[in-house]
Amino acid sequence: MLKIGVIGCGAIGKEHIRRLTHLIPAAEVVACSDYFIETAEETAQLYGIKTVYKTGEELISAPEVEAIVITSVDATHASYVLAAVRMGKQVFCEKPLAQTADDCEKIIAKEVLQQRKLVQVGFMRRYDPGYAEMKRIINSGELGAPLMIHACHRNVSQGKGFTSEMGITNVAIHELDICRWLLGEEYKQAQVLKVRQSACSAKGYDNPQIVLLEGENGSRIDIELQVADAYGYDIQCQVVCEKGTINLPDPTSVIMRSNARCSVGLLTDWADRFIEAYDIELAEWVKNALAGRVAGPSSWDGYAACVVADVLNRSRGKNEFLPVVMMDKPELYK
Ligand code: NAP
Repeated sequence: MLKIGVIGCGAIGKEHIRRLTHLIPAAEVVACSDYFIETAEETAQLYGIKTVYKTGEELISAPEVEAIVITSVDATHASYVLAAVRMGKQVFCEKPLAQTADDCEKIIAKEVLQQRKLVQVGFMRRYDPGYAEMKRIINSGELGAPLMIHACHRNVSQGKGFTSEMGITNVAIHELDICRWLLGEEYKQAQVLKVRQSACSAKGYDNPQIVLLEGENGSRIDIELQVADAYGYDIQCQVVCEKGTINLPDPTSVIMRSNARCSVGLLTDWADRFIEAYDIELAEWVKNALAGRVAGPSSWDGYAACVVADVLNRSRGKNEFLPVVMMDKPELYK
């Protein structure tokens, strides 16, 4: 049994506590904390969690907590991850690993110092059966080399305080990871472009934006990013290979015929769209954490996504590609 402490009892924090509690018999959530203690107390009551800690730091150092799940807001991730690694505890951190590549480097340095991988990043799309099948086909070589990816991320709304930069570091970060994973290569250069703005998007941030990337083998990727005001939560991905294309399947949905129309419902949020991916992701993390290993997306993957996110945000308004420069990959992650 893996005894887990969860930091951050908001939307995804509660979702993960629910799946750890009800779907994963080898996991027990023994502690939780939140910026607002009332939120943590309510969550503890809802899921029968024994202990509520006032701070994430107290939870991380609590002796009964063997592994940590970080589901607090982005700005808090890096310091909680560092504290957990310092304690030598396994940690699952929701994306992004940090808000800058510099902070990811500090986490990598700590793991390298301990000669031990302890961190998994919440890039759950790698566990989605659709993306996994795309990866299998690419790796099989059946369709030849991948040449291009056309991707799109359309969402309904964002919370207060959202910025153009967060469109990259918080939202497109999923695409930055999954495209890199599908292609099996790092990025060479990147830029973000502002396009004609949607009339209903005058909220103080760029929407839509287009991300352009070049892989180190010359593949090209375009990502349409509509973080708000879209018709639903719609994630698309097409990989163009030498001998054919591979498309991410849409989630299963019944087809209704009525009033001389044929229609299919669309999902409106990430929790439903990727429910299966999250279930598999956390079950795998628990299994591997119990065996003392990290088999999913590592600190290196979190770092790689943050490096390109930093480059993209620096490129805003410049109208040119900027190079993506990464540190040498430590032996630990090879
Ligand atoms: P949320 O609903 O705002 O929840 C975040 C929670 O963290 C809130 O309860 C917040 O409290 C709390 N918090 C803020 N500062 C804290 C601190 N210093 N220590 C402990 N708790 C703190 O946001 P969310 O949608 O659940 O997102 C949480 C994280 O998960 C984000 O990093 C996000 O990027 C990630 N996420 C990932 C996915 C995915 O697809 N993998 C999907 C959704 C979210 P207050 O509300 O009281 O400030």
